[in-house]
Order: sequence, then C-alpha cells, then structure tokens
Amino acid sequence: MSDISVSFEFFPPKSEAMEEQLWHAVDRLAPLSPRFVSVTYGAGGSTRERTHRTVKRVLHETDLKPAAHLTCVDATKEEVDSVAQDYWDAGVRHVVALRGDPPGGMGEKFNATSGGYLNAAELAAGLKRIGNFEISVGCYPEKHPESTDWQVDLDLLKAKIDAGATRAITQFFFYPDVYFRFVDQALDAGITIPIVPGIMPVVNFKSLERIAHACGTTIPRAMHEKFEGLEGDEDTRRLVAATVAAELVEALHAGGVHDFHFYTLNRAGLSYAVCHLLGLRPKAAAA
Ligand code: FAD
Repeated sequence: MSDISVSFEFFPPKSEAMEEQLWHAVDRLAPLSPRFVSVTYGAGGSTRERTHRTVKRVLHETDLKPAAHLTCVDATKEEVDSVAQDYWDAGVRHVVALRGDPPGGMGEKFNATSGGYLNAAELAAGLKRIGNFEISVGCYPEKHPESTDWQVDLDLLKAKIDAGATRAITQFFFYPDVYFRFVDQALDAGITIPIVPGIMPVVNFKSLERIAHACGTTIPRAMHEKFEGLEGDEDTRRLVAATVAAELVEALHAGGVHDFHFYTLNRAGLSYAVCHLLGLRPKAAAA
C-alpha cells in the first residue's frame, strides 16, 4: 500500500485536438485516485469559459474532485464573486485562489483592477463569504519574483491562511533542498498547513527554461547537461525527463513528503511514470 497521495493540474484546451489530449490524460491518470484535479485560469473571456466548462465536465462526467483555479486579474470583485457563486451552485467545492499573472505575462507589473481583489488573500476571504470552499493557494520556495524579501512572501502566505486557505502548492522547483529550506522557513514563521510540492516533469526543455526564468525557478547546471543535444530526440528526452522528475520526487519522499501536485501540461505519460516509480498503482490493479 503506497503512502503517496497526488493531485494533477491541467489547463483548459484551446482546440478539439487539445480537448482530446486533455481527456485522454484525465482518463489515464484517474485510476491513480488523485485527491483532486485542478484546472488553470487564464485572462480573457473565452479562456475563462473553457476553464468553467472543463471544471464542470470533470465534476459531472468523472468521479474526480475538481479544483477550479480562480484569479483576481481583470475582473471586479462582483465579477469574480459571480464566477465563484456559479461554481458553488454547480457543486464545485475546491478553489485554487490566486492573484494571477499580469495580463501582459509574467515579469510585467501587476495592476489590480479597479474594484477588484488586490491579491490572493483578499480573494480567499471573498470566496469564504460565498461558500465554505476548500481553498488551496500558491507559494514560492525560491521567493515570488516580485517580492523584495522573504518576510513579504511569508506574511502574504500567512494572510492567505488567515483568510481560509488550508493547503499551499509550490511553484515548481528542481532542488529538493530548496523545498525543505522553504518548509523550515514557513514552519519558523508559524505556517503549519501542508505545503505540497508542485512537480513539473520536463516536456520541452527550451520552453521550460523560458518559464523558469520568468518565475524565478533555478534550473540546476546538471539538468542543462542532461537535456543537452536532445532537442530533436523526443524518445530519449522523455526517458531523461522521467528520470529527472523521479530523482526529485524520490528525494522529497525520502525527506518525508507524501503529497505531490503534478503540473501535467495535459500529458499523462510522464506524471503517470513518476507516480508509478513512487509506488502508486491504479485502483483496479491495487484492489
Ligand atoms: P499572492 O499570494 O497574492 O502574491 C504573490 C506575491 O506578490 C507575494 O508573495 C508578494 O511578493 C507580492 N504581493 C502581492 N500582494 C502584495 C502586497 N499587497 N504588497 C506587497 N507585495 C505583494 N496564474 C494564473 O494566471 N492562472 C493560474 O491558473 C495559475 N495557477 C497557479 C498555480 C500554482 C500552484 C501557482 C504556484 C501559481 C499559479 N499561477 C497561476 C501563477 C500566479 O498567479 C502568479 O505566481 C502570481 O504572480 C502570484 O499569485 P499568488 O496567488 O501567489 O499571489
């Protein structure tokens, strides 16, 4: 019996082909009995509609528990509240409450919408006024890129917990020690909710480098070397990606971590392989 518990993150599909890829990934990962599956939230009406649809489809057509990501970007409090109310009425009980990235992308300055929620702590408090949602929030083992110092980050995380968050999911990282140091820092600051590591299996190293740079995640030198020369060799890249992710989760597990959140990028293969290496087996096979 595995002592591991996982959750999977998906993004809302933009086309029919991507829709098919998403539901294939959901079907493949569902037998691993994730605690929940979450669906990200972008900017712009049509993207948001796709999130709402995907969350409701998970709710109505699978046995999985959906968690809807919701942000403060480009919407008044009333608009955000109405999305949350709609989720509550539909039976969605878990929200990942986020400030959101600036509409211009990560690295741009965030400007709160006039009449909107200022940050994730305010959003979490707003959600609790609508219904007793389970609330997860984001956190940053290498500090949020906009943050001037650690204290601001930890204070913000504490404010999110005071507003009702009961789980923090980390930004992705590649050094186990980065995670353990952050958990220690959080504990020293009196933060005792679960801090679940967000695991990003590497699908495309070049785009990973871009995203990591923007969100302040350090990529180890050794990892650059492992992916070097594999741009046109998808088979080997996938094997290397599984090994790299497995080494990270095994180090975390050895350090006492039992809960993992996977950024699946709507692909099941790597996340499934890493879960298997951790000892997770599909429900039917385990029964
Ligand atoms: P907050 O916790 O509100 O703040 C983040 C940081 O901003 C703080 O640590 C602090 O440094 C600074 N800050 C905020 N408010 C103040 C203040 N009043 N004074 C001083 N400093 C302040 N983005 C999306 O758009 N859609 C998604 O679906 C999505 N999913 C995510 C899932 C996870 C697990 C994570 C970790 C991130 C996700 N993001 C998503 C990215 C996230 O929106 C960005 O990282 C964003 O920049 C910060 O969001 P937050 O909720 O952590 O913000």
